[in-house]
Amino acid sequence: VGLGIFAIGSGFNMAMLFFYPSLLSSTVFPIAFLYMSMMILLMNLDIKRKNEIIQQESSRRFHFYRKAITDGLTGIFNREYVLSHLRKENPPFAVAMLDIDQFKEINDHFGHQAGDKVMQYASRMLTGALRGTDLVGRYGGDEFIVMLRSSGANAFAVMERFRKEIAQSAQGTEDVPIPITFSIGIGYVVDDETPDQMLRKADMALYLAKRNGRNRVCVYEDE
Ligand code: GH3
Ligand code: MG
Repeated sequence: VGLGIFAIGSGFNMAMLFFYPSLLSSTVFPIAFLYMSMMILLMNLDIKRKNEIIQQESSRRFHFYRKAITDGLTGIFNREYVLSHLRKENPPFAVAMLDIDQFKEINDHFGHQAGDKVMQYASRMLTGALRGTDLVGRYGGDEFIVMLRSSGANAFAVMERFRKEIAQSAQGTEDVPIPITFSIGIGYVVDDETPDQMLRKADMALYLAKRNGRNRVCVYEDE
């Protein structure tokens, strides 16, 4: 733009110089146009530089934000992120707590690194079993939390399908297959409840699943 103005201004001045050589403006105009074009050029460069800084800053912020809401080992959301969504979500929806059965034994038998791979594998399987509208996170240790935006019966069906699927697959680390199973507890949220109340329901159902022999899905029912 600056160069354009300079070219037009200079052309105009050349014409003035040609037709009215006596006019004083012939010396003032080119300098004024040169000055203006340089100013616009510098302003453009400054805007470009500031845009680059803003872009770098926003991608840096996005990187830190992703890190703050993600579990480092599995790449799924962390507990805080899922809990913040539980607070905001309008009922009805379901909350499921999932816990790997006898995971300590897997670590003891195959080593902690193999245990980590099993955890990553289980996260991928779980994410794949859910719809895009559901939310899955690592609650901590070998526990996962899922928020299912579906009716009660549907949430049970989804979790039961996942349970069967993972029980039938064997996660291989190099050439050692490691079979795993999950115990799962589901609580349905129908009224305004705090995340603590929701988690309590799912946790009690999970406790029941463990007590009744593991590798099963239990649903919380009011006494
Ligand atoms: P249960 O069927 O009753 O759940 O038995 P469990 O052995 O799974 O239960 P427990 O809570 O006693 O053990 C959980 C184990 O998970 C203990 C801990 O070493 C292991 N664990 C927790 N986080 C990680 C992790 O990030 N990587 C690995 N490899 N192991 C982990
Ligand atoms: Mg466990």
